[in-house]
Amino acid sequence: MMRLPWFGFRSPKTVTEAAKILAAEGPQAMLIAGGTDLLPNMKRRHQTPATLVSLRHVEALKKVANGSGLTLGAGLTLNQIVANAKVHEQYAGLWQAAAQVATVHLRNMGTLGGNLCLDTRCNYYNQNYEWRKAIDFCLKKDGEICWVATASKRCVATSSTDTAPALIALGATVHLVSAQGERDVALADLYRNDGIDYLTRRPDEILTEVKLPAAAGWKSTYWKLRRRGSFDFPVLGVAAAVKTARDGTVEEARIALGAVSSRPLFTKGGELLLGKKLTDEVIAEVGVKVASVAKPLDNTDLNLYWRKGVVGEFVGYALRELRGDDMSATRLRIARHALEAPASA
Ligand SMILES: Cc1cc2nc3c(=O)[nH]c(=O)nc-3n(C[C@H](O)[C@H](O)[C@H](O)COP(=O)(O)OP(=O)(O)OC[C@H]3O[C@@H](n4cnc5c(N)ncnc54)[C@H](O)[C@@H]3O)c2cc1C
Ligand code: SF4
Repeated sequence: MMRLPWFGFRSPKTVTEAAKILAAEGPQAMLIAGGTDLLPNMKRRHQTPATLVSLRHVEALKKVANGSGLTLGAGLTLNQIVANAKVHEQYAGLWQAAAQVATVHLRNMGTLGGNLCLDTRCNYYNQNYEWRKAIDFCLKKDGEICWVATASKRCVATSSTDTAPALIALGATVHLVSAQGERDVALADLYRNDGIDYLTRRPDEILTEVKLPAAAGWKSTYWKLRRRGSFDFPVLGVAAAVKTARDGTVEEARIALGAVSSRPLFTKGGELLLGKKLTDEVIAEVGVKVASVAKPLDNTDLNLYWRKGVVGEFVGYALRELRGDDMSATRLRIARHALEAPASA
């Protein structure tokens, strides 16, 4: 049985109090929300914070503010996001992404903020301490070599959050609060393409809110590839959002990819759609271009060449759904048949 290391525990009631604790304790303190990512990581000794600062009792982080857009508190659980009628009706891409995270039990505990700050993942890292010690560890924690790209000076672990690509496609910004002040950051800019230092958030900053712009005229979707139709982390996420004129011409669009890099990728796919209609030819062309920027590596489930090969197809599924095609049979087929995909080499 894996045991947690010893740690101090603080349970502030307000964001201000939490920010003060983080400032006083320094980088040895870590925030904990649902704990569904951090606690398993602590058991495997990936992170060994001296102090955990729990956000569980900070009520301000559980608020929803309806305006022309939507503001979601970072402390809302994923199931609360899924149960929100406005998310379901107007921000379908976020709804689909949140509904497909892990299992219902984990979504009852796991929060939106925790999902956006999720640690990057890798087959050589998400192992217990003894396993990692047997391979002399790796660059991300306690070692000196990257076993995935041995010549690389940079860790290439994979960003595996489902909601981040969906929210990037929806044009979300996040609000960060520390004892030093507050700032808004476009969600795409919260991430770095670095498997170790994957967030631009400072250790003393608390992600308090996710702000979504008005959804009028927009349609959005999220397509997830994973081995099992429930439970698993994504090995590919495709999020797309489009705003079209009455005649179907695309006026604005965004396409983001998850799980093909150390950060969620905001692609140029949206720009390529501008002024065009979502014809089969346009969709196929954009699928090829978006797929060209995906760089999956051999550090997660399923064969990496196969994963790269299906990116364009998944972009096609997303755009055809946004065009109005009934894609429910395809969704069902993917949920049922992902298991038959080639295993990792
Ligand atoms: C079996 C299993 C399957 C899973 N499958 C998926 C999946 O399919 N897709 C997916 O996306 N995730 C998956 N997860 C990961 C996890 O359950 C979710 O990402 C969840 O949303 C994490 O939220 P949390 O509140 O539990 O985060 P925590 O574990 O509490 O925290 C995660 C990280 O975020 C930081 N953090 C938390 N809240 C804040 C905040 N407000 N401000 C700043 N930093 C913060 C913490 O310090 C920590 O570094 C899975 C986990 C397990 C165990
Ligand atoms: S990508 Fe390399 S350095 Fe990063 S976790 Fe995997 S093996 Fe370690």
